[in-house]
Amino acid sequence: MSDMALISRKGSALVRGIHEKQKRDNSRQRFWELAGSKLGDILGVEKSVDEIDADTVVVGEDGEVDFKGNARFSQHLAVSDFTKSKTISQQRQNLPIFSVRDELLQVVRENQVVVIIGETGSGKTTQLTQYLYEYGYTVNGIIGCTQPRRVAAMSVAKRVSEEMETELGDKVGYAIRFEDATGPSTVIKYMTDGVLLRETLKDPDLEKYSIILMDEAHERSLDTDVLFGILKKVVARRRDFKLIVTSATLNGEKFSNFFGGIPIFHIPGRTFRVQICYSKTPCEDYVEAAIKQAMTIHITGAPGDILIFLTGQDEIEATCYALSERMEQLISSTKQPVPKLLILPIYSQLPADLQAKIFQKAEDGARKCIVATNIAETSLTIDGIFYVIDTGYGKMKVYNPRMGMDALQVFPISRASADQRAGRAGRTGPGTCYRLYTKNAYENEMLQSPVPEIQRTNLGNVVLLLKSLKIQNLLDFDFMDPPPQDNILNSMYQLWLLGALNDVGDLMDLGRKMVKFPLDPALAKLLLMGEQLECLNEVLTIVSMLSVPSVFFRPKDREAESDAAREKFFVPESDHLTLLNVYQQWKANEYRGDWCTDHFLQVKGLYKAREVRSQLLDILKTLKIPLTYCGPDWDVVRKTICSAYFHNAAMLKGIGEYVNCRNRMPCNLHPTSALYGLGYTPDYVVYHEAILTTKEYMQCVTAVEPHWLAELGPMFFSV
Ligand code: ADP
Ligand code: MG
Repeated sequence: MSDMALISRKGSALVRGIHEKQKRDNSRQRFWELAGSKLGDILGVEKSVDEIDADTVVVGEDGEVDFKGNARFSQHLAVSDFTKSKTISQQRQNLPIFSVRDELLQVVRENQVVVIIGETGSGKTTQLTQYLYEYGYTVNGIIGCTQPRRVAAMSVAKRVSEEMETELGDKVGYAIRFEDATGPSTVIKYMTDGVLLRETLKDPDLEKYSIILMDEAHERSLDTDVLFGILKKVVARRRDFKLIVTSATLNGEKFSNFFGGIPIFHIPGRTFRVQICYSKTPCEDYVEAAIKQAMTIHITGAPGDILIFLTGQDEIEATCYALSERMEQLISSTKQPVPKLLILPIYSQLPADLQAKIFQKAEDGARKCIVATNIAETSLTIDGIFYVIDTGYGKMKVYNPRMGMDALQVFPISRASADQRAGRAGRTGPGTCYRLYTKNAYENEMLQSPVPEIQRTNLGNVVLLLKSLKIQNLLDFDFMDPPPQDNILNSMYQLWLLGALNDVGDLMDLGRKMVKFPLDPALAKLLLMGEQLECLNEVLTIVSMLSVPSVFFRPKDREAESDAAREKFFVPESDHLTLLNVYQQWKANEYRGDWCTDHFLQVKGLYKAREVRSQLLDILKTLKIPLTYCGPDWDVVRKTICSAYFHNAAMLKGIGEYVNCRNRMPCNLHPTSALYGLGYTPDYVVYHEAILTTKEYMQCVTAVEPHWLAELGPMFFSV
């Protein structure tokens, strides 16, 4: 196994350390008071000035870092001030795409399908839609622009609405799953690729669109890849429809060939040189190394914002915490003025108002340090970045045969991604990219480009969707890169287990209904079983709660208190029922926000669940499925959960230890589970999903009766 693969397995000791530390110390304040004191020494709380000594820079021979480059220093300032002082319209005209506006419009006019290649930040996402609008493409339909990521769809729509001086949701809007911010006057609609894919179910010819921009095609997300095949047919059927495929990397040939050799238009780049510095040796803990590197840059480097690439929320939060801690340590240990550092996280689950902060200018000359997932690779362009710290890792969804499901796992990134990351440093002036891996790893261990999602994930949703689009033989579908046959067959098997497909792989009535819901197949089945077992009202709430991030709030300095508050909601035999209990109590308290705060619940999360619930209810109404209530006896709800999740059944093996009934894979109760908290360990449980951290944990668990398993999952559990 390569060094990079090994390191990704181990994870970061720093992240674990910070979690431990947060458990140990109730507040950071206290931690601070200890630093440097006798008690602090005893507890091992150090002032870590030595940690930011320039000698510990992880960058090696290749990266002779010129920290005192004053010539570059003034250059940086000049360039960034120049862009920051410009009006929105001047900024628009200053983008590389503006110089080719007319040529672009001509290529689009003369061709039904075109590929447009341009560096990240050249203006593809924000400008193209506006050019098309200005040219008149919205006379007979609207302009749709797809994004693989929700955050990008929202953020870009907001930016464009500002540029066009209209309210978001008016002329410019966005749609993501369970959230539609468009209106009757919307002419430019940003949306996730998943939303457009679902629209093809209702409107196979996408009649309301005059033109679709498939943005970020280089990402090769699962939904984008399926859309390619579907839109190719729309293009053939509708002569009045146009399609633009944009990509930030130079893989235009592939897209062009797929559509039969269509023109490729290159937006001339305007990027500055980026000096690449490699690590001399593989670095054991890339999170720790990234923090050190950021501090070193901040203390000794010329002005310019920093962008750190990490893999996910956990690492990002730990890094932000550690960075602010080290800044405080520094301030308290030196008499000299310490330059300000504005530390900003960005990841997909971050609330929208906090996401927007990364675009704002830092006050009084503070340096920004943005700590991001690969969302900042090409989806979002942040100006003013002069330093990139690339850990070399990212999270990818992959089908894990051992777990029999998709799991997000940390992997070394590809060379193409590494180059994109480096490029972020050269947008406003010459920059530097610190790669926290060796040159050898870059050249010999990393893949040239990432494996498309369609080749590495579960295809349950896709199979269901294509089947309902009447595509009989999935192996014949026009995929740019066909998924492995095993993946298709495996997904079909799972749909057969759920009762969505019959023995010959045709869609059953249940499957036809399941596809109407923007949910994973098992959740859609859960809902529909609620109808059959007459507890739809209760199950609807559970499904909605499972479709939003956890509503339990656990502030770092009030963990014991919040855990106690959470336990009050516990239903001993089920986490699903615990969620139902939370929602019902919230409802009984008139959906009040202050009630949530008092009980350590996320107000926004609960509102979102309520919104999701009402949208799912609308779909149920269109299917003429009436709400049924089971009353206070929730056993039938557990049975319903069992009927949709028997493939995730597990059997007790030891204290808190279970094994999956099908593949004997070990799976553990999570310490946050109601069953764990109350020490009730039933012989059989089903779980919503398994997550892989230090070990395999079951997420959201419900106790079930063994005879239910036999009755509801006869193919597995017959005796
Ligand atoms: P591309 O799609 O080619 O990567 P974009 O159209 O996303 O480029 O971005 C072009 C420019 O628009 C960026 O360089 C940035 O200056 C500006 N921009 C984009 N989104 C925002 C935002 N949310 N806030 C401020 N500026 C933005
Ligand atoms: Mg873009």
